[in-house]
Amino acid sequence: MTLSKHWQTLYINVNLATMTDGANSYGEIINGALAISAGKIVWLGKQSDLPDSLSDSLSDKDGDSLKVDSVDIIDGKGQWLTPGLIDCHTHLVYGGNRANEFEMRLQGKSYQEIANAGGGIVSTVSATRKASEQELLASALPRLTALHQQGVTTVEIKSGYGLDTANEIKMLKVAGLLADELPVTIKRTFLGAHALPTEYKDNAEGYLDIVCDEMLPQVVSENLADAVDVFCEGIGFSLEQTKRVFDAAQFHNLPIKVHAEQLSNLGASELAANYNALSSDHIEFLDEAGIKAMKKSGMTAVLLPGAFYFLRETQLPPIELLRKHQVPMAVATDANPGTSPIHNIHLMLNMACTLFRLTPSEALAGITCYGAKALGLSESKGQLAVGYDADLALWNVSQPAELCYQFGVNPLTALVKDGKQVI
Ligand SMILES: [Zn+2]
Repeated sequence: MTLSKHWQTLYINVNLATMTDGANSYGEIINGALAISAGKIVWLGKQSDLPDSLSDSLSDKDGDSLKVDSVDIIDGKGQWLTPGLIDCHTHLVYGGNRANEFEMRLQGKSYQEIANAGGGIVSTVSATRKASEQELLASALPRLTALHQQGVTTVEIKSGYGLDTANEIKMLKVAGLLADELPVTIKRTFLGAHALPTEYKDNAEGYLDIVCDEMLPQVVSENLADAVDVFCEGIGFSLEQTKRVFDAAQFHNLPIKVHAEQLSNLGASELAANYNALSSDHIEFLDEAGIKAMKKSGMTAVLLPGAFYFLRETQLPPIELLRKHQVPMAVATDANPGTSPIHNIHLMLNMACTLFRLTPSEALAGITCYGAKALGLSESKGQLAVGYDADLALWNVSQPAELCYQFGVNPLTALVKDGKQVI
């Protein structure tokens, strides 16, 4: 018996965390092996289930890799292989930063003094508008590189700092250009309804006319977004206003996501459930009615521990109720300059456990199978399974929980994107 001639690469001597069992377990296969062909996973299982001829070849091999029947064999040396990580909620394209505001706040300056000095989202909007595509790309690249080097192979990036047609389009184009710079799948989300630009300060409806009737049609015609998002909050858009944007998204057949229940419970998750939205994100103030509605429509809850931490929030998301109703929980960085200037997915794993009390398998599911689900990618990414994209991360850890337990030492030893080793 020989190896399948269709296989291109075979990882042997690896422990697999397949993440095919949701958050219940890692879906472990100890002493496993995994074969890749044409960018897809084509076989996985116990190494002992591989053909006998292979073990003969392996016994006299020299070094870490060899070819058998034209298949590249890579020895994982007992390390753990997981799906490539997925950061399903970021705002990592933006101009400037808010370190100045951070410092002012810690020096005891009032919100008004910071606003008078041009702080807040307004400062990010004006820096983003001023920046060229090339400048935005250059500033976003190190942020994406950081995530990539931590094992991230898929990232969602939102617009929402342009807040006019030309600049929202510019942000989405830059997000797309990042995929030419690094081997990362980029999913783009149009978030024109992120905040009111100052020129529409007293005219939210007028701004939403532009969002729905000008920006969105142009975004769709240039194929620049995979989803539409709204910041539904007292300081963002009301439930009625959010509904307007959802209707426009639905008209253009774009999936919906929502920033919801972060600072108060407006019922945005329930509204989003009526539109079969992909996810509701933040959700510290989500109630059981909202959770039930999300469960019914198959939505994912996206937890953002970085924003919770950075804002020193005290209201915890309703983890027990989400568990009770079996709503899938994703975890993401929310990387953004104002409330989560954090580009570290390993830290999110740790914070999901320490701050939100997720179990390590729930946290890891949050950045693999459920991260994929929050992006509508659960049929192709986030699991080690036959037919799935061969996006893989190899870790020098003793057990999967170690990925959540510590951070600061990067245990990534190899990263595979679409079947090719890229790190
Ligand atoms: Zn966000």
